[in-house]
Amino acid sequence: MQINEKQLALVDRQIQRILASGNYYSQVYRAAGITGVKTPEDFLKIPFTDKADLRNAYPLGIQAVPDEQVVRIHSSSGTTGKPVIIPYTARDVEDWATMFARCYEIAGITPKDRIQITPGYGLWTAGIGFQAGCEKIGAMAIPMGPGNTEKQLQMMVDLKATVLCATSSYALLLAEEINKRGLRDQIHLKKGIIGSERWSDAKRAYIARELGIELFDIYGLTEIYGPGIGINCPGETGMHIFDDYLYTEIIDPVTGEVLPDGEEGEIVITTLVKEGAPLIRFRTHDLSKLLPGECHCGRSYPRLATIRGRSDDMFKVHGVNMFPSQVEEILGMVDGLSSEYKIDIAHDDLKNRDIMMITAEAEGRVDFMKAAEQLKLLCKSRLNVTPNVAIVSLNTLPRSEKKTQRVFDHRGD
Ligand code: ZN
Repeated sequence: MQINEKQLALVDRQIQRILASGNYYSQVYRAAGITGVKTPEDFLKIPFTDKADLRNAYPLGIQAVPDEQVVRIHSSSGTTGKPVIIPYTARDVEDWATMFARCYEIAGITPKDRIQITPGYGLWTAGIGFQAGCEKIGAMAIPMGPGNTEKQLQMMVDLKATVLCATSSYALLLAEEINKRGLRDQIHLKKGIIGSERWSDAKRAYIARELGIELFDIYGLTEIYGPGIGINCPGETGMHIFDDYLYTEIIDPVTGEVLPDGEEGEIVITTLVKEGAPLIRFRTHDLSKLLPGECHCGRSYPRLATIRGRSDDMFKVHGVNMFPSQVEEILGMVDGLSSEYKIDIAHDDLKNRDIMMITAEAEGRVDFMKAAEQLKLLCKSRLNVTPNVAIVSLNTLPRSEKKTQRVFDHRGD
């Protein structure tokens, strides 16, 4: 949906502030001849920005306020190279908590709830965001941070936690442990607020069933405040994004063309009021689409569909573009396979061809040979690639508390 007048005026103000600050982006915009935005067409002329820019500006080159206004920094976990540092003003911290509190309210969480927070605290934005929103709505925070499953389960049982905040991988791990230990009757969880990494329907169904909870996808990234900038309302109808703080576009990740509502592409976000590190047209590399039409809940915030994957998770086998999410969908079609998997890609130099190897987990009742054969055939018909398949026992593949790496490319090793 096109940027509205109010949002446009806010972007113009951001640009004036950036230009006056002399920060990294002031140089980028001066070089591009950008002095402000008056029309939606002006807005579309602003170049996209990316994590690489934030790295170039390391450590505090994107700061757009004087030092005395910065109250905190966060850092995103760079998988390669330098980390990214994001400075926050007191207002940024407050705005983030306001958005996060909205998320909890949309999920139907009240001051009576007890929220067990398992994402990490510290440089990473996750834990503290979940906590600030919790305190703002007046619920009880149980600030666990990640790991120490024994203690997690003890607190969950003894303190009668009603809400679990976790990555999908960690929620899965806890669900499996609760199942294994027969603790289901002793937990009081009603809702799960799950970080917005891409997760399969099979995993979602397992967690919801084993924990007996309603699940909500919460969206966010460190560069844009952190988690808590959007959440789905009950009924899984897409994640509401708060358009008084953010303007969201969907673009073709290859051409950069802005796509109409309903078409899938990469999410690009503009911060409308962020002070410490304003970002205009930031490429998130998350794949989704804006859902057209009104939500049944009556809220008018625009909605993003569940994240489908990362544009940079795309991998090529024999020149065919693929996403891990496509492999996940296929796994869900084979009876008895879990949602955990690993993809290895190598190059056979002798035959000069790529080799794709999928490792998947199956329940003990399943004939591993048959499952492997079925998986191969499905990949051939749906992806046009026949992989080698290894089926292993349940719980063989590593579970992680953060985002799990699925694709290992050994070409060029
Ligand atoms: Zn809604």
